[in-house]
Amino acid sequence: MAQNKNGETPIHTLDLNFMDTPGAIASYLIPHEHGAVLVECGPGSTVPALKNNLQAHGFKVTDITDVLLTHIHLDHGGAAGWLARQGARIHVHPVGAPHLIDPEKLLSSAARIYGDLMQKLWGEFLPVPPEKLAVPQDGDVIEIGKLRFRAVDTPGHAYHHYVYIFEDICFTGDVGGVRLDSVRHLRLPTPPPEFHLEIWRESLNRLMGEFSHGAFQRIAPTHFGVFSDAAWHLAELHKALDDIEAWMEAVMPADPSIETIHQEFMSWTEQRSLNQGLDPNLIRAYELANPSWMSPPGIERYWRKNRKPTDG
Ligand SMILES: [Zn+2]
Repeated sequence: MAQNKNGETPIHTLDLNFMDTPGAIASYLIPHEHGAVLVECGPGSTVPALKNNLQAHGFKVTDITDVLLTHIHLDHGGAAGWLARQGARIHVHPVGAPHLIDPEKLLSSAARIYGDLMQKLWGEFLPVPPEKLAVPQDGDVIEIGKLRFRAVDTPGHAYHHYVYIFEDICFTGDVGGVRLDSVRHLRLPTPPPEFHLEIWRESLNRLMGEFSHGAFQRIAPTHFGVFSDAAWHLAELHKALDDIEAWMEAVMPADPSIETIHQEFMSWTEQRSLNQGLDPNLIRAYELANPSWMSPPGIERYWRKNRKPTDG
């Protein structure tokens, strides 16, 4: 029942219609013999959309046995506590796990970034009861019925980041960048406090290694969709990291204020997209899926900690 006639497991892309914008945040639904798995569950604010999507595929929330989170940022895992209360087991990176049990630090750091918009953007964030957490180690295979997911440690966007390799797909969370449906354009989310260029490159090299050994053929970033041109996508990811590095090396040595970094980064990002042929109408969707204004503080922090020569 869980397989289609080609013997492949169906994977349904659920559009959580974040902030009334289609194609910004996905949750991936994979049925199995005793229910279904979600890879990512979106924030608390999109729970109604999640329910509707599940219903459209013939599932109730209580049919969700397992949720695999790539990382704990609110747009990926904000609804995990709520799903755990409906019976789901939540799989998460060891570094992220304590923050799901006790989200106070996570929420106060998010509140510093989002201020008054917290509730509107993210809705309710409930803690995950410890008995509902599963914490795989790097390389572990998560077995759910006949389904097999391999967790691969991939920091760089955040320290607590896994990708999950499932059959011929790699669910890349945010480390695979942001690429909207049917568009050949990639952006990198580099938020504080954990964006780290070199660590991200190491993770990308690891993904390239997996890909060249045939571990997957398709790539599925949470923002947004399943793409079959993984080779192009991974190469583009390399370029995007190089572009950000070149931008930082051009702008940051002058020790600009955060306001200047913000201004320069926003206009550079937009211009880069337009130069690459992105339809200007899609810029808003990219900005919702990955708000560019979150990146300058991440870049500033990375530069100050890792690249700035220490005084004296
Ligand atoms: Zn993230």
